Amino acid sequence: MSELLRIAGLSVSAEDKELLHGVSLSIGEGETHVIMGHNGAGKSTLGCTVMGSPEYTVTGGKIYFDGEDITELSADKRARLGIFLSFQNPVEIPGITLSEFLRNALEQVTGTRIKLWDFKKKLAAAMELLDMDSAYAERELNVGFSGGEKKKAEILQLLMLRPRLAILDETDSGLDVDAVKTVSKGIEEYRKSVGGSLMIITHNARLLENLSLDRTHILSEGQVVKEGDGALAFEVLENGFEAYVRKDS
Ligand code: ADP
Ligand code: MG
Repeated sequence: MSELLRIAGLSVSAEDKELLHGVSLSIGEGETHVIMGHNGAGKSTLGCTVMGSPEYTVTGGKIYFDGEDITELSADKRARLGIFLSFQNPVEIPGITLSEFLRNALEQVTGTRIKLWDFKKKLAAAMELLDMDSAYAERELNVGFSGGEKKKAEILQLLMLRPRLAILDETDSGLDVDAVKTVSKGIEEYRKSVGGSLMIITHNARLLENLSLDRTHILSEGQVVKEGDGALAFEVLENGFEAYVRKDS
């Protein structure tokens, strides 16, 4: 399997504080990886840095995407290369509908404006798959959406934008059992129809149990402290992190 993302010895700072200390991991084309760790371990920092968030400064190491060094690339350019990040807390954007937002995002990522008719057809199909009422397409983005609806709107973006690498940062937080199932179904559909790679940050066994996982990486205090296959994710969820986080002090 060819390598899509390679993070090599990545150190990252924000506000003069080093948050990641030499993190290395690789994700192959079409692979699904899980990132786990305590609150504050650096998971979101890692996801945001791969996306190119200006909030974080790379102070060491490199990020390669499809063989290209993207360490200094803007978030816009990374999105055009096919990197997607779903945020832990989706923003509300009054004045723009979900449908308009998606069509604009698609244009930004692909560089072409898709015909309205084709767009609507694709949107309707993706919304049906996610059990979303089609009326949501014409509502203002995330305004008054429930937690579950916001997350579904994000998975909808994933299906419409078809990125090569999707980073899902606790996309399941605050979801009820049924909504988690729907999100999981959407992720599976993304895997099947797009064939993209996934970096899933989660603590939710339900989200993971129907996905086939290639690898698990455990972060603690800004470092990868343990790696293993997909089964490791479930072991950690059962036993807690402490068993895997060595304290050498
Ligand atoms: P996780 O997602 O694993 O819970 P984060 O990556 O959000 O952890 O945060 C890791 C550590 O970095 C935390 O101590 C957090 O307070 C700190 N941190 C995150 N973002 C910033 C920032 N923009 N400025 C300063 N500190 C930050
Ligand atoms: Mg986080």
